[in-house]
Amino acid sequence: MSFKYDGFMTAAEASKALASREVSSRELTQATLERIAAVDSKVKSFLKIIEDQALSQADRFDANPQSFPGGLAGVPGALKDNICMRGIETTCGSLILEGWQPPYDAGVVTQIQDSGSVVIGKTNLDEFAMGSSTENSAYFTTCNPWNTRHVPGGSSGGSAAAVAAGEVFWALGSDTGGSIRQPAAYCGVVGLKPTYGRVSRYGVIAYASSLDQIGPLTRTVEDAALVMNMISAHDPKDSTSYPEAPPDYTKSLKRDVSGFTIGIPREFFGQGIADPVAQAVMDSATVLERSGARLIDVSTPNVGYGLPCYYILAPAEASSNLARYDGVRYGMRVEAGDHAEMFRQTRERGFGAEVKQRIVIGTYVLSAGYYDAFYLKAQQVRTLLSRDFEQVFSQCDLLITPTVPTTAFAIGEHIDDPFQMKLSDVCTSPVNLAGLPAMSVPCGFSDGLPIGMQLIAPAFAEERIFQAAYTFEQATDYHKARPSI
Ligand code: GLN
Repeated sequence: MSFKYDGFMTAAEASKALASREVSSRELTQATLERIAAVDSKVKSFLKIIEDQALSQADRFDANPQSFPGGLAGVPGALKDNICMRGIETTCGSLILEGWQPPYDAGVVTQIQDSGSVVIGKTNLDEFAMGSSTENSAYFTTCNPWNTRHVPGGSSGGSAAAVAAGEVFWALGSDTGGSIRQPAAYCGVVGLKPTYGRVSRYGVIAYASSLDQIGPLTRTVEDAALVMNMISAHDPKDSTSYPEAPPDYTKSLKRDVSGFTIGIPREFFGQGIADPVAQAVMDSATVLERSGARLIDVSTPNVGYGLPCYYILAPAEASSNLARYDGVRYGMRVEAGDHAEMFRQTRERGFGAEVKQRIVIGTYVLSAGYYDAFYLKAQQVRTLLSRDFEQVFSQCDLLITPTVPTTAFAIGEHIDDPFQMKLSDVCTSPVNLAGLPAMSVPCGFSDGLPIGMQLIAPAFAEERIFQAAYTFEQATDYHKARPSI
């Protein structure tokens, strides 16, 4: 066989190799499994590998390749372990769901299976997607493939690390306040949070339902477009799913940025943004300018309230969503004297400290005496923030900002400093509050760790992001750098 696998072939290249019969999906899947066996003890991206299912999906493709034309058919990827797959244990990084096997497939899983693609396993995450480092996983901490003493980011840290380490061709994450984009930036990969409603949330374990959105983590912008083509669709099982058919995102790769006006919102470059990060993002804006875009200075005055607003609304929704884990319906049950005690002990042992803290905060901000002061006020701020974005998008087509203020921090560095940990969401969480699409694109390195820039577009204008991100990628080499794991 002439097929050579280095672990870092892109998903688009793998798809071409399948189309030319240079390789079979079984061979690709086996090569991926071997790569995982070789590096996952160092990176720890995976909670579970589903070898038998993956190989049978690969065989299904190989038996009939012509019925799954193009896209990511036959190309193996991974799912964050908050995305349900029928009969496959889905833990959400929590002890409370240990052993739970969903009786149904998430909307995105149905899309993946219909397209003939292959799922190889479930990746690690912060418990219930609450965190920025995977250190809140009940199981273990994933390591950053660029420097295994550092975190990969979170909460989709397992998915980002798996892609960065060449363990899979693509992965899905979920993003409620930055959980796709922040680990993408820390691991030097592309991560897209689509517009709220563009990708089905059916069968995705809810954290904060008005903010959650599923999206791709990939090594290139083209691969992200291929994943978006596979997963974005209207799903009648998700009442917030957008009814219009999605475009073919790969078409945007053929257009450049001439005629685009790109706004640089000054509030995103304020205090706390590390100099090398600000510098790399400004240099990237210049690359886009040289490619034909016009740069303008813009202002989003309320964006500074985004992070506190997120940390009121997300726990409020979480406190309601997580009420269903009571030892009766899902996963763990601690047997105790009576049912009230059984609920109490199950939740006491099943949930980790961060999750409990958010349930308490969420319950507090929703309580009768504090609702107006916190929850209602935060909803009003959310509206102001959305208006800021509407206003700037009357002046420009896209915004460019840092994805995260710094590069990946060391494992353990922020464990006793939750404020520092949460500050890593300062540039990403406003985007979820406004429901907009945004992508993190690799744009530099500092001390050997990757830097990401964030491109934000108006709702349902993902195509503009793809145009600009691909133009940038073609003009630079950051996407070619590989960790030496
Ligand atoms: N880091 C943020 C948090 O802890 C974002 C999480 C997410 O997007 N799921 O809430």
